[in-house]
Amino acid sequence: MTSYDPTGYDPAGNDPAGYDLAVIGGGPAGMAAAATATRGGLRVALIDAGPGLGGQFWRQPAPNEDATAFGEADAAGYHHDLATFRRLRGEIFRARADARLELFSGHHVWTAACGPGGVRIRAVDKLSEPGRDIERIVSADAVVLAPGAYDRQVPFPGWDLPGVMTAGGLQALLKAGGVAAGPRVAVGGTGPFLLPVAAGLAMAGSHVVGVFEASATTAWTRHAGAALANPGNLAEGAGYAAALARYRVPYRQRSMIVAAHGTEHVESVSVAGLRPDGHVDTASVRTIDVDAVGVGWGFTPSLELPMTLGCEVSDGDDGSLAVVVDADQRSSVAGVYVAGEACGIGGAALAVAEGETAGRTACRDAGLEADPSPAAARTIRRRRRFARAMAVAHPVPPAWQDVLEPSTIVCRCEEVDAEAVDDACRNHGATDARGVKELNRAGMGWCQGRTCGYAVDCLAARAAGIPMTPQPAPRPVAAPLTLGALAADDAGPDH
Ligand SMILES: Cc1cc2nc3c(=O)[nH]c(=O)nc-3n(C[C@H](O)[C@H](O)[C@H](O)COP(=O)(O)OP(=O)(O)OC[C@H]3O[C@@H](n4cnc5c(N)ncnc54)[C@H](O)[C@@H]3O)c2cc1C
Repeated sequence: MTSYDPTGYDPAGNDPAGYDLAVIGGGPAGMAAAATATRGGLRVALIDAGPGLGGQFWRQPAPNEDATAFGEADAAGYHHDLATFRRLRGEIFRARADARLELFSGHHVWTAACGPGGVRIRAVDKLSEPGRDIERIVSADAVVLAPGAYDRQVPFPGWDLPGVMTAGGLQALLKAGGVAAGPRVAVGGTGPFLLPVAAGLAMAGSHVVGVFEASATTAWTRHAGAALANPGNLAEGAGYAAALARYRVPYRQRSMIVAAHGTEHVESVSVAGLRPDGHVDTASVRTIDVDAVGVGWGFTPSLELPMTLGCEVSDGDDGSLAVVVDADQRSSVAGVYVAGEACGIGGAALAVAEGETAGRTACRDAGLEADPSPAAARTIRRRRRFARAMAVAHPVPPAWQDVLEPSTIVCRCEEVDAEAVDDACRNHGATDARGVKELNRAGMGWCQGRTCGYAVDCLAARAAGIPMTPQPAPRPVAAPLTLGALAADDAGPDH
């Protein structure tokens, strides 16, 4: 277990318009936390970078005055459990109408700090005045962090060609705009998330040439208990399997996309079978024509804000770090609660239960009556068990390292290739992503290692002959911001 010092930034007290509770993140976890906390009597600021509520799971089309544009009703077919979304959103909107909650949409939180007066959150408002970032400070007595996760990627030859995306990116295009990424699409990687992506694309009219799943359903046999304890997940999986069968989408187990080919744009992919040891069966490589590719190797928790606030993190079950919380979603920092994927990848139902629990705990800690919910606690235990099983049943296979070529770009922002990463490790002693970054800037660009960090950690560990342990990378600036917003004077004389 590792704990981090805050950045040292002193918030110097609360501002007068402080809230009882700030919730950062308007996805399933943050929505549940905000709705529960307002119900319990707290005055809440709900802050999210997106134009509307829903996060990744319930991502909605951006509000549009053109009635003929792709809208919420059109997106409904790509969603699950919209009833919960509508219930939570209804509660949040009612609380806003009664001045019990303020909604800060389009606000990207770039840092936060805790002090004796509570938490001070600094965000840039990218929505109110298009083209201009407006610095905004929100103060609160306590905070729920629900920043979610992002797609985990590993490099492969051709992955930087236009038309090659993350599986989450394909899903986001569908849900936000009804856009199918291409007429012929290949989906690959590992995990149950590949199923809704492929099913959604097929529904939207794409010819899905195959789902190339690195694991196999037999990997679940050792986790039958966890699967049977979550019949909802089984039913959802069966629904997707039926959809794939209806659209005649081939589902290939123990296989993966090993290369993408094309000049200006992806034109084909090579796919290969995997041997039982997780390495590529080179005799099985074949090429399929495609116009788009989506690859997903699970998700990585967003830890920038929890780490900035000093929350303790520990190794998750899936090669990522996750925030350590107690059974009431309290982090190691007083007044900071964490819910959803930042506590470990586990899906939307778990995120809702954790958000509800965090909201109740915040109420209780503020002296209001809000008993713990036994139902939410049961859901958390059950879903965490399923999540652990999923992490074990769907590992990232070693095969991805077999297929790298020296010229394969690993860090796309800084254009560092596999040869340069290898050189840093074998000839200059780097044993983790931080060491590699210091030698060749891998992970130093716009995305701050979100895309390449996992891969560089794995490559460095392999070169050093040690097991890969996820390396923490505290980022005091959690979201890109302009120098103008950084220098804005709105913060007052104490900044
Ligand atoms: C691209 C993508 C697509 C996904 N699609 C699906 C799917 O279709 N089906 C499925 O079962 N699972 C999907 N998932 C998994 C999904 O993340 C979870 O199941 C679920 O959404 C988790 O809920 P959450 O509230 O923890 O996080 P999220 O839903 O990710 O919500 C986090 C919210 O926090 C906000 N946020 C993060 N950082 C900041 C910041 N610095 N400032 C302000 N706001 C911030 C984000 O805008 C987001 O709205 C997807 C994940 C990703 C990354």
